[in-house]
Amino acid sequence: MSLKGKTAIITGSNSGIGLGVARELARAGADVVLNSFTNRDEDHALAASIAEEFGVTARYIQADMSKGDACRDLVKDAGGCDILVNNAGIQHVAPIDEFPVEKWDAIIAINMNSAFHTTAAALPYMRERGWGRVVNIASAHGLTASPFKSAYIAAKHGVVGMTKTVALETAQEAITANAICPGYVLTPLVEAQIPDTMREYNMSREDVVKNVMLTRQPSKEFATVEQIGGTTVFLCSAAADQITGTTISVDGGWTAL
Ligand code: NAD
Repeated sequence: MSLKGKTAIITGSNSGIGLGVARELARAGADVVLNSFTNRDEDHALAASIAEEFGVTARYIQADMSKGDACRDLVKDAGGCDILVNNAGIQHVAPIDEFPVEKWDAIIAINMNSAFHTTAAALPYMRERGWGRVVNIASAHGLTASPFKSAYIAAKHGVVGMTKTVALETAQEAITANAICPGYVLTPLVEAQIPDTMREYNMSREDVVKNVMLTRQPSKEFATVEQIGGTTVFLCSAAADQITGTTISVDGGWTAL
């Protein structure tokens, strides 16, 4: 399957899942626009390395996804959008009665509101070209809850709900909107937590992974960024033309429990 000629914007893609998704879309032939709020040489170098490795056009555009105007400008500055992957996200953990208001506002803005703004800006481009894909990276926490993550869970459930509405508003066009709900994914951020947790609990790496991190993931394996990227590519394929308004869990059985 080739996504040659398609432009994909992936928000929050200078690391982790976003970068993995960008790489898999580029591997499938799409031109990619990487994004985060920083503007470092290494951000632009990441785009250059993807362009070289996969023979596609790859650009890095700085835009802060906590700001509505910046979200809309990202899509405009990209000059078009066939595939929109809303991935940017942050987390904060605290009981609800102690949850810092500024953290709540930032999580709702970056994890949920940004998807509203980018989708609103991208749909006219998709309609003009007669084809489009909106892929929202939600979470197992878009379908279930855990204590102390109120803002994240509110935002991710919100994204899942918004995905359904976008799907209904585009149902009679060649545009689909879906959410991928990953369980625990092995990103550099997660990997970096393992040594500290090993020390804290005096446990082996295997015990930390299986019995601390993956307690809710029945497979006892992390999902990988390549699997999230591969699922995104699938959603962009013709096989997924009639898949819209739904969620695909990549969670090792988490939501089956
Ligand atoms: P990460 O921290 O590696 O990636 C987050 C990305 O968002 C980074 O590129 C970061 O620069 C970017 N970002 C943060 N604030 C931003 C802002 N204001 N503007 C633009 N970009 C911003 O984490 P990740 O694990 O790769 O998470 C990516 C997405 O996947 C998030 O939405 C997260 O909720 C979701 N997710 C992650 C997991 C997991 O286990 N890692 C599980 C389920 C869902």
